[in-house]
Amino acid sequence: MATATLSIDLDAIAANWRALDRLSAADTQTAAVVKADAYGLGAARVARALAQAGARRFFVACAEEGAIVRQALGAGPQISVFSGHMAGDTDTIYDLDLTPMLNSLDQITRHLESLPGHPFGIQLDTGMNRLGMEAAEWEAVAAFVLKAKPELIMSHLACADAPGHEMNMAQLAEFHAMTDGIDVPRSLSATGGILLGPEFHFDLTRPGIGLYGGLPFEAGQPTVALSLPVIQLRELAIGETVGYSCAWTAEAPSQIATVQGGYADGLLRALGNRAVLWAGDVPCPIVGRVSMDLITVDVSHLEQAPRQLDILGPQQTVDDLAASADTIGYEILTGLGGRYVRRYIEGRG
Ligand SMILES: *Cc1c(COP(=O)(O)O)cnc(C)c1O
Repeated sequence: MATATLSIDLDAIAANWRALDRLSAADTQTAAVVKADAYGLGAARVARALAQAGARRFFVACAEEGAIVRQALGAGPQISVFSGHMAGDTDTIYDLDLTPMLNSLDQITRHLESLPGHPFGIQLDTGMNRLGMEAAEWEAVAAFVLKAKPELIMSHLACADAPGHEMNMAQLAEFHAMTDGIDVPRSLSATGGILLGPEFHFDLTRPGIGLYGGLPFEAGQPTVALSLPVIQLRELAIGETVGYSCAWTAEAPSQIATVQGGYADGLLRALGNRAVLWAGDVPCPIVGRVSMDLITVDVSHLEQAPRQLDILGPQQTVDDLAASADTIGYEILTGLGGRYVRRYIEGRG
């Protein structure tokens, strides 16, 4: 194996979607969030696998991503765009039958004037202060907007990964206050919100990270494995150092493996001198700095010279690796670089 290989288990992604779907009532639709190239795993392949598993509705961040997903899925499944209807998006939205989630009066005006009768949704801000209309704005335009028949009203939770956080109940109450009595399907929850319980589910849920095996969906199956080939092995005497800035010094005679993969591949520099790679079930510490294309690993304790070392796999999930770099699984996944050979596993049922 000459190059680093990222294995992506489409069967596991489909199984995670089904598992999340089972967590809500039968009349709650479970969509699939495939923004950021399906969290780095390949939007076209992932969307097709999820459509096969039964997903009928997909969410992306922007119209360009919607175009890629439409090309992969063909006509039929609904593709919704979180950023709404931006200037310059009109043709793409129309030609590819995308459904923008309108975030502001500006977007509402643009959409209803340029594409009257074209499906749209509404995004409300219930406290996150990121996207969507706030209560006063919504109150001013709701009657007018509802006449144009939005097909979804959604909002997003800021703290759903912390079940006890008071923000969850506050946003739930605000969502009710802004939408009760309106006869339009509603959506409040991503992965974290699904796990908060049925009062957060409404008509449609929008899981992303849980599909890809990340926390907070603890019951999810891992979906990625990443093996880095060993390019070279070398022996160090006591006192010799490794890599940039001499950030690690051998305190005993050591064998160091240099593997293909570095921060340009999304293997964060913060992993240097902190994270481990795995030779089967034996952990091997990263020693020294992570370089752009290379990582150095202490393999002194291995009985056999390794040909490759695993950085993601059964021994180390994206969240384990994230913890070593003080970040979250989302950032590890979406950072996975363009140089890996992506190998898809599919069809084992
Ligand atoms: C990213 C995103 C989601 C999916 O969130 P996860 O935490 O990955 O499940 C859902 N809704 C909105 C608005 C998002 O931005």
